[in-house]
This record gives sequence, C-alpha cells and structure tokens, in this order.
Amino acid sequence: MKYVLVIPDGMGDRPVKTLGGKTPLEAASTPNMDFFASHGEVGLSSNIPVGFVPGTDIGCLSVFGYDPRKYFTGRGPLEAAELGIKLKTGELAFRCNLVTVDGGLMKDFTADHISTLEAGALLRSLNERLAPSLRKKLKFYPGRGTGYRNLMRVNEADAALKSVSCTPPHDILGKKYADFLPKSDGSEFLIRLMRESLELFKKHPVNQKRKAAGKLEASMIWLWGQGVPPNLPTLHERFGFKGAVITAVDLVKGIAIYAGMDVINVPGVTGFFDTHYAGKAEYAVRALEDHDLLVIHVESTDEAGHMGDARLKVKAIEDVDRQVLGTLRRGLEKFEDYKVMVLPDHFTCVETRTHSDEPVPFLIYSSKENKEGPEKFCEKTALKSGWAVSEGYTLMDLFVGRD
Ligand SMILES: [Zn+2]
Repeated sequence: MKYVLVIPDGMGDRPVKTLGGKTPLEAASTPNMDFFASHGEVGLSSNIPVGFVPGTDIGCLSVFGYDPRKYFTGRGPLEAAELGIKLKTGELAFRCNLVTVDGGLMKDFTADHISTLEAGALLRSLNERLAPSLRKKLKFYPGRGTGYRNLMRVNEADAALKSVSCTPPHDILGKKYADFLPKSDGSEFLIRLMRESLELFKKHPVNQKRKAAGKLEASMIWLWGQGVPPNLPTLHERFGFKGAVITAVDLVKGIAIYAGMDVINVPGVTGFFDTHYAGKAEYAVRALEDHDLLVIHVESTDEAGHMGDARLKVKAIEDVDRQVLGTLRRGLEKFEDYKVMVLPDHFTCVETRTHSDEPVPFLIYSSKENKEGPEKFCEKTALKSGWAVSEGYTLMDLFVGRD
C-alpha cells in the first residue's frame, strides 16, 4: 500500500461574497478531488487545538499526526532543522521575516516577495552591524532562508526571551505595526534589533535598486515564532514507514526532518503561483517506488488567501487539482493499492486575509474500497457528511491504519 497526503495550505475558507456566497473550494472546478471524494470519504478535521494560534506550524503538526499540545515548541526551530542548523540545549531559533512597513502600517509580510539573494545581502549587512557583544549572542543566516523567510539563532537564551510574546506579521496586515512589536520581559532587545534593521535597510543598495524597479522595499526584519527544538517520534518509529515530503516551505521541511522523513527538492518549486505543480506530483510518484508515504505540500492556496484575492485562490485550487491531484491520479495507477488524503492545515480566509481555526474539510480515498462520498469536495459537503474529527492529529493514524 502506498500513501499520498496532499496539503493545500490554507485551502479551507468561508463563503465569499464576491463568489456568490460560495467558498473558493466550492467555486473551483476540481474534478480530481471530486473523484477521490465521491469514491471515498470526506469530513471535517480540527487541526488547531483551542488556545493555539492558527498557523502552518500548528496545522501541519496535526496534519503530520503530532499533537501540537504535546510537540509544539515554536516555529523557528522547525525551520532551523530545514536549514541544517542544529540547536543546542538552551538555544533559541526565531523566525525572521523581511517585511514592508509603510506609514507605520504593516504593508507586506513578504517584502514584495523579495528574492533569496536580496534577503541575503540585507541580513549580511545586519550581521556586520551587530555590536561585538551581540555577535556572540545571536546570528542571522544570509542566503540560507527562502526569500522573505529567514532565521535568527540566539545562544544562551534566558527564560524571559523564550516566553516573549511575538506576533506573526501575516496577522497584522494593514495594522499599526508598533502595536504588535514583541511584548513582555526580554522584548526590549528584540525591538531594538528590529528598529536597527529599519534604520540600516532604509538606505541599503538592495532597497535603492528595488525602488528603482518599482518594487516594495524590505523595510525591516520582523522576529517571531521562537522556540527550542521539539522531540518528535519519527514516522518509522510510529508506523515502520519510510516517508518523504515535497514542499517549498522551510517549516514544513523542518517538521518532516524531525519526523525522520526525506526531503525531496523538485526543480521549479517556488511556494508561489508560478510553482511547478505537476513536477511535485511526478517526483512524488517516482519517490513512492522506495517510500511508503509521500507528503505534497502546496503553498499557493495560502498566499492567495493572504492577498485577499478570491479569484486567485479559486485558480490556485484549480491548479492544485489539475496538476497535482490529476498527475497523481494517473501516476498512482501503476501501484497495486494506494490511498490519498487531501487535508489542508487551516483556513486562510480571503475576506479577512488571515488564518482562522475552524475545522478544515478533508478527503480520504482508497483504491481498495469503493465508497460513496459526495459528488463535490468542499467545506459544505464535509460538514454534511457528519464526520467530525475533533483531534486533527489522529487522522494520520486513521489514514495509514485502516486498510
Ligand atoms: Zn498554512
């Protein structure tokens, strides 16, 4: 039996006015997901435990089968794993975004999708500008992150710094950023770093070039998501499986690495709308020759939600359906038996442009069984099915356990 889990990030959504009251998934033409749903089962899964901020970190831990309450230590350390940065005891990793602020407001949490090269140049300048005492304490990793997604490592972090309350920049779009700077004891040091970056980046050649090219500037760094490394039982320890993941997102790679899975890099995968969707599925089918479980994570559905563009989200979902699920459907035929699960990590609502924690629709299909699921896969049919999984992390056991 081969297992494929597809995670369209942030695909779940609420009814949208401009779509005539349909959700983007409902409005999208999704013949392949509908095929799997109508010959399988659908339901709703609560991936975000009460009290947790709905994010890809928490959502994907659940999707990979780990109880976030037990295993989540922060987003930074998950991404550090992907970068090959091994944290020692007492060390902290922070997520470090490059963001655009304008008129005191958070304008773009991606700094207009700044390139890895440009981001590297900015962070290099920041490393060089650090006071000698700070240089021993912390480090940025120029060129190691992907575009706007970067990392800061802190040695000898005290308890106060570990528990500083930080806000993800994608949650404060259009809001006064100063209201959301790190809070509580230990935060002064972080705020100082962020303000220093604002000064340093203002006249930086990278930004002068961006301005001339009509792009948004990378105004400053935004620190959040700090944590110590988590201790996850591996997929092999749990199921005796060999697994692999295909994703452009560092944090998802990080979860996979802690789960003992291989990370397969597919050329042309960007984490944006120009991503090589079909390539992900082709590589997945090939990798299944010597793996039991393949996880394909697609980011564009989430990005469209953050942009607040309903049509773009519909298009991203249709691309995922046609190119990822369609390619999979054809490719999987060569295996005797296979199962497919489609499970987004959380909602990313186009009307609010942010994540939310309501239960997400999922589908499970097995080539061995012919069930009668709904004709259409969407939030409404998932609700109608009456199948509600209250602990999203248990779905993985169910998926691989019920043959
Ligand atoms: Zn997500």
